[in-house]
Amino acid sequence: MIPYGRQYIDLSDIWSVVKALKSDLITTGPMVKNFEKALEFVTGAKTFAVSSGTAALHCAYAGIGITSKDEIISPANTFIATQSTALNLGAKVVFADIDPDTGLVSPNSVEKLVTPRTKAVVLVDYAGQPCDIDVFRKIIGDRDIFLIEDAAHSLGSRYKGQAVGSLADVTAFSFYPTKNITTGEGGAVSSIRSEIFQRAKSFANHGAERDQNKFSGDQIGPWVYEIQDRGLNYRLSDLNCALGISQLKKINKFKSRRSEIFRRYQQNFSLEKRIQTLKVEDYADSMWHLFPILVPPNLRDQLIAYLHSNLIGVQVNYIPSIMHPIFKKLGYDYKELPNTLNFYLREVSLPIHVGLRISVVDYISELILDFIKSKG
Ligand SMILES: *Cc1c(COP(=O)(O)O)cnc(C)c1O
Repeated sequence: MIPYGRQYIDLSDIWSVVKALKSDLITTGPMVKNFEKALEFVTGAKTFAVSSGTAALHCAYAGIGITSKDEIISPANTFIATQSTALNLGAKVVFADIDPDTGLVSPNSVEKLVTPRTKAVVLVDYAGQPCDIDVFRKIIGDRDIFLIEDAAHSLGSRYKGQAVGSLADVTAFSFYPTKNITTGEGGAVSSIRSEIFQRAKSFANHGAERDQNKFSGDQIGPWVYEIQDRGLNYRLSDLNCALGISQLKKINKFKSRRSEIFRRYQQNFSLEKRIQTLKVEDYADSMWHLFPILVPPNLRDQLIAYLHSNLIGVQVNYIPSIMHPIFKKLGYDYKELPNTLNFYLREVSLPIHVGLRISVVDYISELILDFIKSKG
């Protein structure tokens, strides 16, 4: 089976982890700081590592101080973690529709949903393409609303030349194996705002304060730390970070391989009108995580079955969050998001990963084109 996504691990990754295993500290040692520094070169903003992309989102929401009085506006064309982490802080989730050509959250839809309770607008960089942040900044104006970027797909992408991580108020990354780089499980939070950064980072480590100058209690001594706020343990270990460091060294190679595959598919499908590929925005220089195609809805499931029978792994990204029973039970109706529903019913994600050869990309494309042609 050719997987739709897969990690790329070489000997330098293996040695990096082995070296970390033999060192004195195997968690919260020097590798964590080194990984975070290396990440900051890519994100262009202060960055800390956490144990998953989900943890990163949870920290991002905690960092902006989300409570049960708040609403977040977010697209449903995403993995459930975009919303579940906000739900866990008691927030109300409001769904905006998407642009049918990019799968990115639609500014017009967001604009209509802003209320005095809106605390954050969440931008999901679907497939790796950044959202048009300038447009969203304009919509927010001088209101007290934060922009959160779910950049699980877009580490290494740029918007008008600027790195993802330094665009939104706070940005969450994932290093799950299929993502742009991997640490096994893992994630990171970037922020261009130091108060948000501090609060998010503290949330990832029990809300603990170790700086005596910032203590508010009466305990004094070398053993003293204070819990000043709610938090959890979302730390990433040295072992994971050692893998992350050696992965990040290859990020440019990863990016060019992924764009080579992306362009090849685009080219292969360019003459078939029944296969729509994503619109690529002029402002974007993307590190592509997915290669989605949109096919006629009556052929979608047959195509997936056909590809699976030919040992081609494909996925559907995503079952819209709003369609999951958790939201149905809360009274949400997905028919309010026609573009999201239509995108979902037509979407298939084709294999794209660093080790995928162009000859295989061509083979997969041929299979799909033959299938579509056989349907008249
Ligand atoms: C992968 C992903 C997440 C969650 O990341 P994990 O590391 O799997 O917890 C969140 N949002 C999106 C859009 C993702 O693709």
